[in-house]
Amino acid sequence: MTDVKFGTLAPIRYMAPDFDNTMVSYKVYGTILIEQDVEDAFKERIKSEVLSMIPIVFSEFHAREVKCLELPAMCSEMSKKLTERLREIDRKCNVNVGGVVMDEESKKIIEEKQRAKIIADNPAIAQVEQIRAMQAAGSVNRPKFCPNCGTPVGPTGKFCGNCGSPLGV
Ligand SMILES: [Zn+2]
Repeated sequence: MTDVKFGTLAPIRYMAPDFDNTMVSYKVYGTILIEQDVEDAFKERIKSEVLSMIPIVFSEFHAREVKCLELPAMCSEMSKKLTERLREIDRKCNVNVGGVVMDEESKKIIEEKQRAKIIADNPAIAQVEQIRAMQAAGSVNRPKFCPNCGTPVGPTGKFCGNCGSPLGV
């Protein structure tokens, strides 16, 4: 019995069907169990076979429109698929996928898109976001009179035209 650990060196790319085919990246790692003692050269060959199969399995998932957030939960299905493919090629090997992990950069992109989706689907949140954006731009809640001298102030300009006090947001 031999254990061969494997892990993707380059990120595996996935076009997330649930986020307009946004490109996200994963690391995949696990172990290949071989039911006999084998030479190192064989281990390396089996390992590279498995690594080359992972993008193919990912493209099958994409064809089925598997959501990007569901991929990490599909270790056992991946294990099964990789084992089947490997057995077409060689002896009694079992692939055990230990983890399918989205990289940090992709997580941030997806979180941002999730947030945008929630806002788009919810008019009340959209309104709050809009008000916040306007506040940030200084067009809402700004004083109509200078807080220092009381002179009426216009909708633009950061300082009072009379005394020069900052008008804030
Ligand atoms: Zn003033």
